[in-house]
Amino acid sequence: MTNDSRKPVMAGNWKMNINHLESIAYVNKMAFSLIEADYARTEVVIFPPFTNIRSVQTVIDADHLAITYGAQDISAHDSGAYTGEISGSMLKKLRVTYALIGHSERRAYHHETDESVNAKVKAAIKNDLIPMIAVGETLDIRQSGNAVDHTLNQIQGALKDIRSNYVSELVIAYEPVWAIGTGEVATPQDAQDMSLAIRQKVAKLYSQDVADKVRILYGGSVKAGNVKAIMEQPDVDGALIGGAALDPDEFLRIIRWPDQP
Ligand code: PEP
Repeated sequence: MTNDSRKPVMAGNWKMNINHLESIAYVNKMAFSLIEADYARTEVVIFPPFTNIRSVQTVIDADHLAITYGAQDISAHDSGAYTGEISGSMLKKLRVTYALIGHSERRAYHHETDESVNAKVKAAIKNDLIPMIAVGETLDIRQSGNAVDHTLNQIQGALKDIRSNYVSELVIAYEPVWAIGTGEVATPQDAQDMSLAIRQKVAKLYSQDVADKVRILYGGSVKAGNVKAIMEQPDVDGALIGGAALDPDEFLRIIRWPDQP
């Protein structure tokens, strides 16, 4: 993290954990602990399940907290007969800032493809939500030596027909699938190498100026004990955190990454 124009982001992806009552206690705990200096240094984002978004919004609004929140998915459709889906306009009404799109669990369990990810990125932009696009390779792909090509193809697919002014605002999360929830963390150098490759790809598709603005996060078994070394990499602008973000105390330590060993 060396570029001053890119504010670091620490984003907690709760996945299908923490119910709406627990989410109120969680956000209150964050509110007690976070101070101005934390918010000034790092953007704090949480991705609660859909059922908690209203509760999270209410606590954040009531106390004017500088915590932003996102949805873990978004429908590619505006409205209609899509049972179980949630549209971008519904999320916007709840003052959601981010839509997490293309998480590897959605790609694996819900058969999301680069095309459907691209459609969701467009739906987010149409509704003034910032896409946080997750990409990354499986262990097989890494072992076959194709991790970079695979990940950059996912980027190209996700960004198809997206204009540069939107691209400079969005966030890309590089999450090697083999490091998610496994305790296996990529080395800081692995995170840097892929983040740089992603930035160079964005420069090639758009411009260096756009690439310099895009924030690139690393995700995969991040915790307080390893976050600092990852954040010291020049092209890593933050982290997407799953398991470790379920404990607000651990998430707070991650948010205070410069103080960690
Ligand atoms: C994730 O699911 O986005 C993630 C990074 O999970 P974990 O931190 O548990 O590996």
